Amino acid sequence: MAQTRLIDPFQRPITYLRLSVTDRCDFRCTYCMAENMTFLPKKELLTLEELDRVSTAFIGLGVRKLRITGGEPLVRRDIMDFFRGMSRHLESGALDELTLTTNGSQLERFAGDLAAAGVKRINISLDTLDDDKFREITRRGDLAQVLRGIDAAQEAGIRVKINAVALNHFNDSELFSITEWCASRDMDLTWIEVMPMGDIGNENRLDQYWPLTGVRAQYESRFTVTPLAERSGGPARYVRLEETGQKIGFITPLTHNFCESCNRVRLTCTGELYMCLGQEDRADLRQPLRDHPEDDAPLVAAIREAITHKPKGHDFDYSRQRLDGQMPRHMSHTGG
Ligand code: SAM
Ligand code: SF4
Repeated sequence: MAQTRLIDPFQRPITYLRLSVTDRCDFRCTYCMAENMTFLPKKELLTLEELDRVSTAFIGLGVRKLRITGGEPLVRRDIMDFFRGMSRHLESGALDELTLTTNGSQLERFAGDLAAAGVKRINISLDTLDDDKFREITRRGDLAQVLRGIDAAQEAGIRVKINAVALNHFNDSELFSITEWCASRDMDLTWIEVMPMGDIGNENRLDQYWPLTGVRAQYESRFTVTPLAERSGGPARYVRLEETGQKIGFITPLTHNFCESCNRVRLTCTGELYMCLGQEDRADLRQPLRDHPEDDAPLVAAIREAITHKPKGHDFDYSRQRLDGQMPRHMSHTGG
């Protein structure tokens, strides 16, 4: 039976679920993780069957877009089984889009399977085109492997968007080369402001923080930059570089509030539902999943109850040179 869809207290329909399928990753990006991360015991993670059940419940409640993330989603064992399972919701028309955010390291292996499961677009995170800097920022990644992954995705007919975190004294010097590279490969590009998520060891976030006003100013030094009215339902705002026609996205959680149109919730790999990336309030969905393996009614009731707490907005703030609103959890936990 069709369920009434999810509407939060501010009349925002919840149509987008971001699902983290693992906290593990083959990289240790300096802004995301500490060098020595302790990962969760496997039994804490939702099983593939539980991931399927909970995603299916959300889709039954009106979620139309499902983004798989992590950690690195493609290092989760047998994750292709999950993607193949979700393709039934694309085929039935219940789901509009099945997508993922990935570091690209495993794409050479999986791009064909993802395309076969109905994935049409993916976001690939890549912050530099320099081999040495890539190894430095990811602490263990191989740029050539990621580039082969991008080739494989494009060959499989998947549209690629590059997400680059704007990092002061790191990729500020590569702004134009990354932009030109994306244009030459017909890939969209979005810059993300670094966010205060989780302890990252010795790295200093204020050193890393390059506000996107600075990114934009650099574009304006070379191009005519026209803001576009277009919104994707998410936090990104877009501009067009008039001389090339290229569209560039900016995700500016810290310099621009985007919460008024927020349509999303996030589920961690342990089944905690976060109603807002920048708030600690969460609801446990693992218990209703595990306590009632044959009955989804308690799960659906827990989801509905959680949505009644979705806050109006987040609390991040870098002003006064300190990290107000710093979140104790890592982005890899909640899923970026
Ligand atoms: N491993 C996958 C990847 O890197 O694409 C998916 C998970 S990752 C947590 C998702 C996105 O979050 C990536 O684009 C990454 O650059 C971004 N990210 C991680 N930590 C961040 C932070 N502290 N501030 C802003 N973006 C961050
Ligand atoms: Fe891994 Fe993605 Fe975090 Fe980098 S940003 S450490 S690739 S989860």
